[in-house]
Amino acid sequence: MTHVFHRNPKVSLKTAVNGKGIRLFDSDGKSYIDACGGAAVSCLGHGHPAVIEAIKHQLDTIAYAHTSFFTTQVAEDLADFLQKKAPGNLNHVYFVSGGSEAVEAAMKLARQYFVEIDQTERRHFIARRQSYHGNTLGALAIGGNAWRRQPFLPLLIEAHHVSPCYAYRDQLSSESEEQYASRLARELEDKILELGPSTVAAFVAETVVGATAGAVPPVKTYLQKIRAVCDKYGVLLILDEVMSGMGRTGHLFACEEDGVVPDIITIAKGLGAGYQPIGATLCTDKIYDVIVNGSGFFQHGHTYIGHATACAASLAVQKTIQEQNLLANVLQRGEQLRGELHQTFANHPHIGDIRGRGLFVGIELVQDRESKKPLDPALKTHARIKAQAKENGLLVYPMGGTIDGRLGDHILLAPPFICTEADISDIVGRLSDTV
Ligand code: PMP
Repeated sequence: MTHVFHRNPKVSLKTAVNGKGIRLFDSDGKSYIDACGGAAVSCLGHGHPAVIEAIKHQLDTIAYAHTSFFTTQVAEDLADFLQKKAPGNLNHVYFVSGGSEAVEAAMKLARQYFVEIDQTERRHFIARRQSYHGNTLGALAIGGNAWRRQPFLPLLIEAHHVSPCYAYRDQLSSESEEQYASRLARELEDKILELGPSTVAAFVAETVVGATAGAVPPVKTYLQKIRAVCDKYGVLLILDEVMSGMGRTGHLFACEEDGVVPDIITIAKGLGAGYQPIGATLCTDKIYDVIVNGSGFFQHGHTYIGHATACAASLAVQKTIQEQNLLANVLQRGEQLRGELHQTFANHPHIGDIRGRGLFVGIELVQDRESKKPLDPALKTHARIKAQAKENGLLVYPMGGTIDGRLGDHILLAPPFICTEADISDIVGRLSDTV
């Protein structure tokens, strides 16, 4: 009987005792290739010496200083790095301890911005039906999965949802990508008009949809068209890159590839790469200036914001990625991974779609390729794949509820950026023994 209150207490978990590179080891000495980085977290793998050294060094100086008294050099340096690398003028970095906190901060920044400019009516958040933004009450409210929200509905703010950009299922055969993107942008515009443009604060979307859908990238021009609709009605655009950001797609910020700059962006997982809990919310000059020159006080905060050890770890992670040019490896290995998956599963009757960007790859499972019908949820295929892959020494991140939160199964792959060509082939080999 363990005393840790796990999310799923009925599943007994092995104890992880060691991690080295892309592998984890349990107390029986079994080794696993970490092909999902936990949940798209461990981008440098495990036990990276440069990161461990940076954490040790930070602990020798200062681990924690409350931000009402001090800043620290590592927090300033990390903010400087992020601000220089971020697209457009996302120049202001607010540190938090994880993804949900980053989303909460984004929602509050948006709301406070409108309060400061006396547009207090702007309170609605519009998000997408296929999305995950976190488990705290604000982030849960805007998340697209109705089943996850259900038990907590009386506690949640009212949020509004539009269709996701999910070409594999939703792009009509008669439509070009451009027409499909325009149709989705019109749907957002209709929703804004229905709510009343002067009441809408922000539209929130994952740049590449992660856990709920399995690495679904937007079609070209989708985000640009969405940006234009937001601008037309003075609605802020918040991109959630908690999973897809920090190099996972081969670009430090996933939206760079779409040529779009949001007003607010959230990052987490890959920022500290699992070495320390950390996230951040970046906003543009427009938002920052209004708050600083207005009330001068962001009405939000947590005890551990800008935690020095977390910032030191993240700085070391990000420096390593830059110095070793690992984003180029993410692009190359990502191509290889998708290529080998396509080859290996070319005739697999239940693999409907293989998609993604960089080392952020999704595989969607179906009854058959023609009908694209989802598998029977009672089969719990995603859970069986997870267990079987683990048996085969492979950690992958399969999920159910791909389509509407209840139906559909997919497998998410998000291996560390340090993967070699041989590692990728090994991952595909083990997966083909599993699926
Ligand atoms: N946003 C996205 C896109 C996520 O994928 C996640 C976590 N899966 C979160 C927010 C919440 O992050 P956390 O679990 O660190 O609170």
